[in-house]
Amino acid sequence: MKNALKLVRENILALTPYSTARDEFSGAIGTFLDANESPYETGYNRYPDPRQSEVKALISKIKGVKQECIFVGNGSDEAIDLCFRVFCRPQRDNVVVITPTYGMYSVAAHINDVEVRSVQLEADFSLDTERVMSAVDADTKLIFLCSPNNPTGNSFPRWQIEQIIERFDGIVVLDEAYIDFSTQASFSSQLGHYPNLILLQTLSKAYGLAGLRLGLMFAAKEIVDIFSAVKYPYNINVATQRIVCEQLREPIAERIAEICQLRDFVARELASAACVEQVYPSDANFVLVKVKSVDALYRALIAQGVIVRNRSSIEGCANTLRITIGTREESSKMLNIIANYNG
Ligand SMILES: *Cc1c(COP(=O)(O)O)cnc(C)c1O
Repeated sequence: MKNALKLVRENILALTPYSTARDEFSGAIGTFLDANESPYETGYNRYPDPRQSEVKALISKIKGVKQECIFVGNGSDEAIDLCFRVFCRPQRDNVVVITPTYGMYSVAAHINDVEVRSVQLEADFSLDTERVMSAVDADTKLIFLCSPNNPTGNSFPRWQIEQIIERFDGIVVLDEAYIDFSTQASFSSQLGHYPNLILLQTLSKAYGLAGLRLGLMFAAKEIVDIFSAVKYPYNINVATQRIVCEQLREPIAERIAEICQLRDFVARELASAACVEQVYPSDANFVLVKVKSVDALYRALIAQGVIVRNRSSIEGCANTLRITIGTREESSKMLNIIANYNG
């Protein structure tokens, strides 16, 4: 893989991005009469930093990724959508996704009128890299991998991911939304080796900030620069930038350790319940379980106020529920209902 810029759509390469008032003068102190803002202080009367410099500096420190290699979006959803808008010509290019996996890749593809080629995982949700590579043709721009995968919970072996990045003459989008719960290391230290790698992470899971909407993308500077030119100028609002900066100073290692420990306990308890047929190994903050009479059990949980995700309609996930690891109390409530269920 030589140059990721060769894969970018021509109209995007040729783009002159909108230049905001804050791009043209970025000092912090002055009499600001350049953006038609109100002078009356509301806490929000000024436009946000379009480059999110403070947020990125903190993320850079925490994640060990150079600031110039960081893009932040309104959730991971924004970065996923931008992958299509930057690289995929509608009605001509295609992308390869594994199945089952996170649904947003396909939804974003369809919104952008881009063909999706699905490669089924094995029955145990492991990956066959040859099947992935044989789905690729000359118009394949992106391969989406998610590790740990949602909704299955497993991570793919590092060598398999490396093999796909090395063999594919396009962009590999590796979604690491659950990496903080995993025993596997992030690929963030490998960005320098792989000019065709886009990593996605998020503050929505381990960092407990789903409501703020902040998704992270790590990639080569060339890719980050293009994404920054295409995004809405003020995609991350003032409140989100401010609160993220406060919240990122809170340590989260203990919370993550607690959730992982509870996950392993929940998995063992579920495995011993009569209505549970299989608990799939999880590297994330949820477990996928195969159960008897899935719809009835799902309704029984709801009847007692416990909401889980019924994944039965997804190919390869028949009779499964995806259960998030909550607090100890929430988990024991859920476990009690499942342990005593005899439908
Ligand atoms: C939850 C999740 C995300 C996070 O999405 P945000 O838009 O950042 O909240 C991304 N990818 C996967 C696979 C997820 O499960």
